[in-house]
Amino acid sequence: MPALIKILPQFIANRIAAGEVVGRPESVVKELIENSIDAKAENIEVIVKNAGKSLLQVIDDGTGMSEEDAFLCFQRHSTSKISEPEDLENITTLGFRGEALASISAVAQVELKTKTEKAELGVSIKNHGSEVIESIPSAFTGPGNQGNKGTSVAVRNLFYNTPARRNFLKTNQTEFKHIYDTFIRLAAANPSISFKLINEDEEVFDLKKTDLQNRLIEIFGVQYAENLLEVRQETEIISLHGFISKPSFTKKSKQDQFLYLNNRYVISKSLSYAVHMAYDDLIEKGDYPNFFLFLKVDPHRFDVNVHPSKLEVKFDDEKAVFGFIRKGVWNTLEQNDLIVNVNLKDNLTPVSGIPAKEPKIIPSYNFTKDSKVEQRFKFSRPAESGAKIHEMFSKGISDTKEKENKIPDSGDSTESYSATGSFNHVEKDDLSGKNSIWQFQKKYIMYQLENTLMIIDQHAAHERILYEQAIDRLNSNANLSQQLLIPLYIELNPVDFEVVKSIEKELKALGFDLELQSKRKIKLKGIPSDVKPGQEDKIIQELIDEYKENDVKLNLDKRDNLAKSYACKHAVKAGDSLNSNEMLNLIDKLFFTQMPYVCPHGRPTMIKITMDELDKKFARTGF
Ligand code: ADP
Ligand code: MG
Repeated sequence: MPALIKILPQFIANRIAAGEVVGRPESVVKELIENSIDAKAENIEVIVKNAGKSLLQVIDDGTGMSEEDAFLCFQRHSTSKISEPEDLENITTLGFRGEALASISAVAQVELKTKTEKAELGVSIKNHGSEVIESIPSAFTGPGNQGNKGTSVAVRNLFYNTPARRNFLKTNQTEFKHIYDTFIRLAAANPSISFKLINEDEEVFDLKKTDLQNRLIEIFGVQYAENLLEVRQETEIISLHGFISKPSFTKKSKQDQFLYLNNRYVISKSLSYAVHMAYDDLIEKGDYPNFFLFLKVDPHRFDVNVHPSKLEVKFDDEKAVFGFIRKGVWNTLEQNDLIVNVNLKDNLTPVSGIPAKEPKIIPSYNFTKDSKVEQRFKFSRPAESGAKIHEMFSKGISDTKEKENKIPDSGDSTESYSATGSFNHVEKDDLSGKNSIWQFQKKYIMYQLENTLMIIDQHAAHERILYEQAIDRLNSNANLSQQLLIPLYIELNPVDFEVVKSIEKELKALGFDLELQSKRKIKLKGIPSDVKPGQEDKIIQELIDEYKENDVKLNLDKRDNLAKSYACKHAVKAGDSLNSNEMLNLIDKLFFTQMPYVCPHGRPTMIKITMDELDKKFARTGF
């Protein structure tokens, strides 16, 4: 019987191996830029077309390759970076496995041009799907058409021979966002290298060689200039350097948190949390500090687990590193007199595996009758319609008020319960003392509805209201907005600008009256009538951040995403105190929504406890 096992031909083996290295256009960009950095380039230019699906090209002025090396670099496990087993213990380059170019050329049409300083002429090689189809001597000009040494790798039609993988790619906006993120991670970590990013023939970044602080300001915007604090802390075996944001300059997301280990961008929930913890009471819940921190450790003394193509990092002695980072950040905050009355609690060092603090986003809820969410909350859904409940609720409150009005010194009620069933204004003072409605922990609204105790999550409830309002506006294209006295000019980063461009019409329908200006500016002329004046730029930025995050995590329709983002970022938060009018208003509006019982993410907005249940708990059954 002939053998069943066959050795796979190289081109098939390469294609399989490519899956590990090349997940999406972003991974190609990462590998190519890392190669340019490893080749000691001083200038790196990245060219993107069609979000990398048509073209990704990286041109550098590094060492270049000899003709022989130019052929070898496409072979699997071909690398100039390690040769002895010991080298693995002492890696100073970003790449070392010799797999990137082999993997990329297995699934794309690659054109490599390279030249060393010594060589008279460079070489140009076309490799399509692991097959060299052309190689000719060729002149070479570096980035910006300058210099005569270096390497250019153009990757065309990624996944042209693996259609299933190609179909798996996301929208251009999403794929470009990934490329952009990788570009800025690498550019931020290498300020001594000049970087250019050109997307669809437009220059997105032209970052000149500089120091870390200025590089960060150039990438993230001038507002960072005033808000960065330097961190510097070191021992013989470990050091931390970089910048953190002032506690007053935080974000609602972890987007601008960058951690590097030995100059390689890494992700570590636990170590990011160490930074966060150092801020302790200085920032509010739900706010995240921005940071750009470079951790350097001696690989011989620290057992770290990094995988070259994965970002997660784990230390054997995570606790020690955690403490070191927290202390470094804390020292900076303290030296800058930002810590007043804060006691760093030393016993707080958590063990690894810190729970995620962010709420999980639950898949979107749509209004189909038998959806799971609906079923999940059926048990708590009263038989009465929202309007009916509202009526009962209103009655309950006005009954209370009637009684109160009989007491001579309860004084200042300005009754205005209208015939249409909506409250305009109930009492000047808060009713909480009178037990009708009160706020618990600035988070929950509690009130009595006949013989039931209703507990409403103020944020979830408000989100539901705003979400439906937003959907209404988007559907009616009403363009209702409150005009600003003076238009506001907001400068956005290129990705955010693209996002705004793609949802311009919808933003207008929501009430953001805006105009796109030159490359990255928007002119804001009006805002939705319920946005508090003075917060316009903040709310736009938060809205975009949330929209982007949803876009990556959930596969939402544009309008749904925008409505959810708007609702989430604009809703009252846990911690906001509400007076009784505001609470009443909220409940009032909540019961007029189509789906009062769940927030747009599918969390419940309210729970109830009946008298019967309470009686049972107190073993009062039978009374
Ligand atoms: P690795 O980076 O892990 O060594 P790659 O497949 O990325 O593997 O690259 C293979 C080899 O090709 C590298 O080790 C290097 O010698 C050479 N090479 C790749 N890109 C460049 C470049 N931009 N400039 C000079 N040499 C390069
Ligand atoms: Mg490499």
